Amino acid sequence: MGQGLSCRSSHEHGLFSAVQTGDLETVEAFLERDPTLLHHTTVYDRQSALHIASANGQIEILSLLLERSVNPDVLNRHKQTPLMLAAMHGKISCVRMLLEMGANILMFDSLNGRTCLHYAAYYGHSDCLQAILSTAHSSHVAVSWGFARFVNIRDGRGATPLHLAARQRRPECVHILLDSGALPCASTGGYGCPGSTPLHLAARGGSLECIRELLAWGADRLQRDASGRIPYVVALKHKHGACAALLNPSSAEPLVWPSPLKFISELNQEAKELLEQALMEANREREKNILKGTAYSLPSPSHSDSGADDNVSEGSDSELCCICFEQVCTIEVQNCGHQMCAQCTLALCCHNKPNPTTACLTPPVCPFCRSTIARLVVAKIKSYNDIDHDNGDNCSSKTRKSRRSRNFSNEGSSSFKGLSAMGSFGKIGGRGSGRIAAENEWVDKP
Ligand SMILES: [Zn+2]
Ligand SMILES: [Zn+2]
Repeated sequence: MGQGLSCRSSHEHGLFSAVQTGDLETVEAFLERDPTLLHHTTVYDRQSALHIASANGQIEILSLLLERSVNPDVLNRHKQTPLMLAAMHGKISCVRMLLEMGANILMFDSLNGRTCLHYAAYYGHSDCLQAILSTAHSSHVAVSWGFARFVNIRDGRGATPLHLAARQRRPECVHILLDSGALPCASTGGYGCPGSTPLHLAARGGSLECIRELLAWGADRLQRDASGRIPYVVALKHKHGACAALLNPSSAEPLVWPSPLKFISELNQEAKELLEQALMEANREREKNILKGTAYSLPSPSHSDSGADDNVSEGSDSELCCICFEQVCTIEVQNCGHQMCAQCTLALCCHNKPNPTTACLTPPVCPFCRSTIARLVVAKIKSYNDIDHDNGDNCSSKTRKSRRSRNFSNEGSSSFKGLSAMGSFGKIGGRGSGRIAAENEWVDKP
């Protein structure tokens, strides 16, 4: 930033360096003396004070400038807005303030034709990315453009924010984008190698975590770029051995997040996190098996997941899942109220692998009573207080107890065997297929 600040006058120079360092008093003094300074820019890059404040995260100065009714979308030499610079440098408070002041998220720079969303994804600032997406969701952009179209917006060379995040090894951004409806199979025009998908670019960047995310959201390992290469070949070429092992079309397929299911798309945040965590754990088990015996020892399980395995099988007073008998029930099916663990819930939902070509997907039913699943919620942890205070709830401890006994007895021993044959994900992964061998035995039963 600093380099572009050659001085036209000492005042200008003084103002810009005060903005850069966050010297509020000096900035105020300069503007008092000469209010027109507000509209001056640096000589070469034509950065305004607003650009400089945004790029340097000087929130107080930014607030001062915006109060004086400066256009939040003022452009520099490269047609970059202050919002783009704030997103590039990860200055989240500035991003938020600019968005609140109505900064336009649909501006394109003249360097690569990129938007603020591209900047946030490229530089890996997931908080900024999230803030921009939330604004897009609730603003006119969603109405006039469509939210999904905004998430998949392309730069001058056909790259979506997901392409950039995958190429730059930004797994958190990859996750947020996929979760917001970014298309995992979109191919670029000219960015990277023509026809590259996000998976090709992740293979090139060599990020195992990005590849894991993309695969779990249904990215296709067999899709070819314009020169006919699948992502596996790209990973090999760039000597990312572990990535190549996962991308090898002959290695086990991962479980894919069942996004087309209605009740999955309507999950509340808490239940969603539980299930996503279960999905990633299942896929990590699968990775271990793929990488076992190869030259690539498994990188220590993702550090970003805080305590993923810590509290799963603890709490002896909680109810054990009646399907696997290994995990605690954490998910409740509504409206019937049956409970199971996140892993088994996921196995149930991933039974039908989402396939874009088959429009109609048979939604799974409750494995205990076969009723339609209206909603999945996080099961309430039972505490001794429940007995007295649970009256208003449609799921009192009394009915829960009877439900539990029903889980064990009434369902008939034959289908129950099928259920327990699913076992835990660890075992399923161990078979190397990543698929649930016993699934048809019970799901297809009348
Ligand atoms: Zn279970
Ligand atoms: Zn049920």
